[in-house]
Amino acid sequence: METDFVNWLLARIPADPRLEVPPGDDAAVLRPPAGRRTVVTVDMLMEGTDFILGPDCTPRAVGHKALAVNLSDLAAMAARPEAAVVAVSLPRRGGDAIGRGLLEGIEALASEYGVTLAGGDTNAWDGRLVISITAIGSVAPGAAWRRDGARPGDLLVATGAFGGSLLGRHLAVMPRCREALAIAARHRVHAALDVSDGLTLDVSRMMDASGTAAVLDAARIPIHPDAVRMSRRPDDGRTPLDHALADGEDFELVMAMPAEAAHAAVAGSRDMPHATPLSIIGEVTAGQGLFLRQPDGSQAPLAARGYLHDFDS
Ligand SMILES: [Mg+2]
Repeated sequence: METDFVNWLLARIPADPRLEVPPGDDAAVLRPPAGRRTVVTVDMLMEGTDFILGPDCTPRAVGHKALAVNLSDLAAMAARPEAAVVAVSLPRRGGDAIGRGLLEGIEALASEYGVTLAGGDTNAWDGRLVISITAIGSVAPGAAWRRDGARPGDLLVATGAFGGSLLGRHLAVMPRCREALAIAARHRVHAALDVSDGLTLDVSRMMDASGTAAVLDAARIPIHPDAVRMSRRPDDGRTPLDHALADGEDFELVMAMPAEAAHAAVAGSRDMPHATPLSIIGEVTAGQGLFLRQPDGSQAPLAARGYLHDFDS
């Protein structure tokens, strides 16, 4: 029943100095951090499209992912996570247990990343689970990373490794917030985004927004062990590199940085307050499009591939 669920939820939300009026009123009132800009992002996950509940995909895992993908977008803007509001539409059958599981996943990640839950809305219907989270972050004026600032001569720096996320990382997303804030505090970044739909597709979006082209180095793309495992499946027929370039849901960051800053960031990444490796995966050039460069120096056009939401016009 909704009232029980909401009361249970409210009782679990810890007090936070950022909330002048906490959840439970008609709306929450946030105290914005002094002198900072507010960054807002929203993401919706729908059962049947984005996940299917089952033994490998619990409500808790869905709650984690729903918040994590929003925090990944805040990381891509170099914004510090502050607050989140949650809207869920629960299936009538089993909705209470699903709702509690969702909130457990959201709460665990929220407390790990310093996010206060500022409110939410719970509905029940005859459809499948839908969850939408709006995350709010803050950034110093003019300091947000954008995707349209890459310049010829920049190097492309990536966090982590790519490919094969469907083997589990697409749910157990670890947003690169700490990495982004540490890099932003130390190094110049001209453009950035998080890889949600596919490395080539997302890099091509950055290049299109910036009016530039990119050359990716085949031998320098960090390939996740999951990409290797997937390519070994008998019916797969794809190389690990192909998985890394096109699978998506990696939720790693790609940043276009001046060459000196890129080298300094990679060299200094061992001393960063996180253990995520950084790699230089290519460079930004004049022109348009994507290219893949082989170790012998030859290069060929690279198709931008990844996940696109289909709908009819
Ligand atoms: Mg994004």
